[in-house]
Amino acid sequence: MSIRKIKIFDTTLRDGEQCPGASMNKEEKLTVARQLARLNVDIIEAGFPIASEDDFEGVRLIAKEVRGPVIAGLARARKEDIERAGEAVSGAEKSRIHTFIATSEIHMQRKLRMSSEGVLEAAVSAVRLARQLTDDVEFSAEDASRSDLDFLCRIIEAVIDAGASTVNIPDTVGYALPVEFGALIERIMNRVPNVDKTVISVHCHNDLGLAVANSISAVVSGAGQVECTINGIGERAGNASLEEVVMAFKTRGQFLNADTAINTREIYRTSRLVSSVTGMVVQPNKAIVGANAFAHESGIHQDGLLKDKRTYEIMTPESVGIQMHKLVLGKHSGRHAFKNKIEALGYNLSDEEINRTFDRFKKVADQKKEVFEEDLEAIVSDEVCRIPEKYVLKYIHVESGSDKTPTATVQLGIDGVDIREVSNGDGPVDAAYRTIKSIAGASGNLLSYEVKAITGGTDALGEVTVRVEDGGRTVVGQGADTDIIVASAKAYLNALNRLAFYQRR
Ligand SMILES: [Zn+2]
Repeated sequence: MSIRKIKIFDTTLRDGEQCPGASMNKEEKLTVARQLARLNVDIIEAGFPIASEDDFEGVRLIAKEVRGPVIAGLARARKEDIERAGEAVSGAEKSRIHTFIATSEIHMQRKLRMSSEGVLEAAVSAVRLARQLTDDVEFSAEDASRSDLDFLCRIIEAVIDAGASTVNIPDTVGYALPVEFGALIERIMNRVPNVDKTVISVHCHNDLGLAVANSISAVVSGAGQVECTINGIGERAGNASLEEVVMAFKTRGQFLNADTAINTREIYRTSRLVSSVTGMVVQPNKAIVGANAFAHESGIHQDGLLKDKRTYEIMTPESVGIQMHKLVLGKHSGRHAFKNKIEALGYNLSDEEINRTFDRFKKVADQKKEVFEEDLEAIVSDEVCRIPEKYVLKYIHVESGSDKTPTATVQLGIDGVDIREVSNGDGPVDAAYRTIKSIAGASGNLLSYEVKAITGGTDALGEVTVRVEDGGRTVVGQGADTDIIVASAKAYLNALNRLAFYQRR
């Protein structure tokens, strides 16, 4: 029997982006979409075009720029939604319209206030209309896992007849159990007469921590597409995590008789990019991409690993693209070597961006003898994923110690004019933030502050991520530097610059 190829439908930019605080602007979405194409996902769900002008523009831009994967736009089973989605994906090499309506009693009665016959009719006409705009149409029966099986099978048969080439069975509320969900897919495969004319897809939420298990159980029962997100981000407890689903197939493909087309060596980089763009930090013990996922601490394990890696290692860190502190460049590396390395890492930078990142690399290399891949990635995301800077850090000096009141002196350039102030605080970071806030006249609230060392050692590049809220909008700011106070100031200014940028629009 030949190995089945399971399609990976990534919805990081749609469902993932719906989680609180993870909103991305359209340039950030494009950067993530490009990386998803490198990861070789089959389908990118780029957004929900009718939801807002920004959402529409994001989908349109990705459809125009990203080649390789199918680009999908989400639409309720309504004429205006479908037309808007069709317009947004029309520039794609391969486009898909993904339309949905709820099929469970509770959703039909309480939310939609529609009869089941009305829902069936709306679904069929939505699929027909979408088929006039593209050949590739996916239909989702929202809350399928809590729907009446007879009705669910009827609606699936009807939308396949109407031209749906993919039919998705979501566990919208994360209620299903693996054995039960697998059995549901099996019943659908056995009862829907025209099921061979479509691909059955699954979309599982993680409210009980079972999203990945449910997805795999569904594949065993015949599902041919899994919907998932990078780092498992998404509404509430999130979606099935792409990296866990993919590595389960990669590691246990023989048992499951299934695999995916994912380039697993891009997994770690994609995880880092999504974490840095959304500000959603990955927990250290997260499977596959967490900082400790491949760290073996116990003596017995280490001893076994030294004798034969297969004693405790079911997959290698390299297979997901984790380079264990791979030294890449040093203090004497030139511009050419730098440029080659940046390109090898998958970044496509303009000459001006290369110059800017190279200057920054030189400064880092002066402070730190060895520069690792992770450092280069931090430099690039710090220098390139920037938005126009209203506030520029010109100077910072912070004094603190066990017997001193922390005092910060900060000079900012604001629209070309330099302003310097001094303030005290409860700690060095607090002193720096108070001073910046006062100079900028900013009103935002700091919601969270996290600092992380990107590589090991006390000379590591520190990366600071902050979330700042102002007037109902939450933004993420990031900064990296070998000095964590400077990294903290940069992250805060990055957030203030984002707020200023959004307010201007
Ligand atoms: Zn969802």
